[in-house]
Amino acid sequence: MESKRRHIAILGSTGSIGTQALEVLAAHPDVFELEVLTANSNADLLIEQARTFKPNVVVIADESKYQMVSDALADTDVKVYAGKDALNQVVEMEPVDMVLTALVGYAGLAPTLAAIRAGKHIALANKETLVVAGELVTKLAQECGVNIYPVDSEHSAIFQCLVGEFHNPIEKIILTASGGPFRGRKREELASVTRAQALKHPNWVMGAKITIDSASLMNKGLEVIEARWLFNLKNDQIDVVVHPQSIIHSMVQFTDGSIKAQMGLPDMKLPIQFALGYPHRLNSNFERFDFARYPSLTFEQPDMETFRNLQLAFDAMERGGNAPCVLNAANEVAVDAFLNDRIGFLAMSDLNEHCLRTVDFVEHPTYEDYVQSDEETRRIAQEYLN
Ligand code: NDP
Repeated sequence: MESKRRHIAILGSTGSIGTQALEVLAAHPDVFELEVLTANSNADLLIEQARTFKPNVVVIADESKYQMVSDALADTDVKVYAGKDALNQVVEMEPVDMVLTALVGYAGLAPTLAAIRAGKHIALANKETLVVAGELVTKLAQECGVNIYPVDSEHSAIFQCLVGEFHNPIEKIILTASGGPFRGRKREELASVTRAQALKHPNWVMGAKITIDSASLMNKGLEVIEARWLFNLKNDQIDVVVHPQSIIHSMVQFTDGSIKAQMGLPDMKLPIQFALGYPHRLNSNFERFDFARYPSLTFEQPDMETFRNLQLAFDAMERGGNAPCVLNAANEVAVDAFLNDRIGFLAMSDLNEHCLRTVDFVEHPTYEDYVQSDEETRRIAQEYLN
């Protein structure tokens, strides 16, 4: 490992990925130095994290919580900022080498672009950024000489399979999906499923939005689009296979027909650590996989008629332009409405489809077009709900 410690900013430190990333950093104080922590509104946890991990700066996006955080940290050296714009500014701070984007949804796009422009490498958990504006983000990263390291376990698996193979052409990638809590159910059985049922993922403990996306297979759809941009693939080079045990995290098939897979117990700390520490594999005491406990690993085709969101994502990717941005915005409104008991489970994909049909198509969007498409979609989605 190089002697210089890697200086890390964590956007969304109070979330599922953020808290696990802090465990990784705490286990490797010789490798990482923490610069920035941010939260949306969870001031209590942000204060606790700041006292424990002693970053240079914290940001609370919700400005009404500024005084509380500032007062609580007044006896420390930690600088406190508030508001959305502060997120875009702290990623540019001189000592930061790498930004872990662990905030959720469209809110990740602007700070990710700011970090790339400032030449900071990205450990990308916030898949929505690449779904909304994958072409723009990856082009900018290339121009700025910035690497985007995937944190999503499937994309980390593909990246790990590609290490040592970067010059060999990929025939296709195979993204694995657990199938979520409703695997095997038909549409009529999904009409009355509850929020509590949808929030019970069989293999992973995650934030609420991605857990609902996993139940509706929208998460896999977002991952398909994320993979297309991360690995510069054509649309027909991406397959999805349901693998309920979540042991194989994804696979790459090369042009000689050979398939490489990356395996392990489901634990997000591993892909987080791989992204933050790349190109080094850091030691860990994470639980090891035991073949004797898994006598069979199984695979099946995804049911895209029942779980329409996955098909909608493939369609939006095929259409290109602002279609994935529209799908993402519609889905954020749909998931929020489902979590607040405003709509049922199946209505989420209905809303997504409505927005994809209704919002004006832009073939070659600029950043401003993405911002406008996002706003327009949220407006149309709210109208549909009312
Ligand atoms: P959580 O909901 O657990 O955490 C989200 C974090 O982002 C929190 O720190 C939250 O702050 C902050 N945040 C939320 N909204 C905003 C906003 N508008 N502005 C600024 N900060 C905000 O999410 P996850 O950790 O589950 O997911 C984070 C990202 O990682 C998502 O894009 C997800 O798809 C991706 N991902 C997650 C995985 C997982 O295992 N959880 C696996 C693979 C990818 P606060 O706590 O104050 O609300």
